[in-house]
Amino acid sequence: MRKIYVLFLLAGLLSSPIIAQEKSDLDVIAQIREEGFQRSQVMDIVSYMTDVHGNRLVGSLGMKKAQIWAKAKMEEIGLENTIIEPILDHGVSWDNEYTSIHMLEPGYYPIVGFPLAYTPGTNGKITGEVLIAEINSRQDLAKYKGQLRNKIVLISPLLMIDPTVPIIRNRRTEENLNDLRDPVFPTPAQSSPRVANPNQVSSVARLDFLTSEGAALVIESRGGRLGVVRTFARPGANQSGWSREGMVNSIPMITVLPEQYNRMYRIIKRGIPVSLEVEIRNNIGNATQVNNVLGEIPGTDPDLRDEIVMLGSHFDSWHTSPGATDNASGCSVMFEAMRILKAIDAKPRRTIRFALWSSEEDGLRGSSNYVKKYFGDPQTGIKPAYNKFSVYYNQDYDKGQYRGIYLQGNEFVRQIFTKWTSLFNDLGMTTVSIRSVGSTDHIPFDRAGLPAFQFLQDRIGQGTGHTNLDFYDNLVQEDLMKNAVIMASFVYLSAMMDEKMPRKK
Ligand SMILES: [Zn+2]
Repeated sequence: MRKIYVLFLLAGLLSSPIIAQEKSDLDVIAQIREEGFQRSQVMDIVSYMTDVHGNRLVGSLGMKKAQIWAKAKMEEIGLENTIIEPILDHGVSWDNEYTSIHMLEPGYYPIVGFPLAYTPGTNGKITGEVLIAEINSRQDLAKYKGQLRNKIVLISPLLMIDPTVPIIRNRRTEENLNDLRDPVFPTPAQSSPRVANPNQVSSVARLDFLTSEGAALVIESRGGRLGVVRTFARPGANQSGWSREGMVNSIPMITVLPEQYNRMYRIIKRGIPVSLEVEIRNNIGNATQVNNVLGEIPGTDPDLRDEIVMLGSHFDSWHTSPGATDNASGCSVMFEAMRILKAIDAKPRRTIRFALWSSEEDGLRGSSNYVKKYFGDPQTGIKPAYNKFSVYYNQDYDKGQYRGIYLQGNEFVRQIFTKWTSLFNDLGMTTVSIRSVGSTDHIPFDRAGLPAFQFLQDRIGQGTGHTNLDFYDNLVQEDLMKNAVIMASFVYLSAMMDEKMPRKK
């Protein structure tokens, strides 16, 4: 009697539409896990992106080539509506084609360095004595006036390098994850208004001065970590609208290893001459555009398929390395998540749209222009797609495995993400944090009031982003495989919900 009752109850439960939906969702997640762990292609994708394509600087021909590959790769895994979409003008293309830096005096030594992005080349080989010109104040401008014509100039101070500071970061501890689970209480605003020092010279004003004084080459170094070059763009490159004119009328600038910079600096301070031979060739091309690359798995539910679930990562990198952790790792996780969903023939109710943003590194321009163009903003007026948008997931912070997710201050998604997170406890995904995190491509969505989230990752290794060390070999296969499985699952579950992802009120 009792047995029959239990069977009857079970049959009743399974025939309830909610339980049946959950059962089939769990079945799909089992398929995602199997595909993602037994037949992963994530390392093959990230190897091609980093090893073959190398760096992907905004506005470079290298980026253009890599984006053509990305669109073809999307098509290869079966995505539809793929597009390389121009989203704003960049002004000019720039690629470094040749860099050669050598110390000649007081003895020969090769120097490791890179040109700053969007600087001109040296127009042939230049050889000359190196001067120190630390220009920080208006008095410094007067001091160096007339002294720098055709000189090679060191502009950074002697760098502080502490060889006792360990740089290997370990995985997050339980203690750290517990802290992140804590509620966040408002802290009183710190009111320490910044007092502008009218005497101080900005990096743009310093470069303008060096240019007008006719310096031959500017050398900087930054960061103070042994073996690490951190190189960004020419000061003011964006203020001049990324113009070709601003670029060719500037002077060559390079960043070198901190320990080699300091060595030159100390020799000069002893009164012993240092001379260098440098040749930089940069290909400065025509006006170009910033493009995003997108592709979709169309939704299958006639009532929901015009609603959008998005996932994305920035495809651009700085130019001193292939940007493996920042952010080929994020892009490859997204590629692999989409590949898995296609491989298991997932039938999402909503449309899943995959975006590879450009121009994140110089101000989230790819994603913010996209949000402006397609969704708008309640402040300035929303577009029809605003109300059809459900959720956006981003990966950018390094290469480590997902240990949880940040709610970005949205309490209304806590129940949903707590439940989904519990499905991946065995993979180390255990933490739901109410905190908001910033500085990457989910921010334009969040600012527009659209649900957008970043996973809480282990930050492991040496922290190679934005450096010359950011190569494939920093990546951990197991971490990227786990991330792709979790990403595919969150995206799929989002696309299957009866309602759109709740928004902050
Ligand atoms: Zn990044």
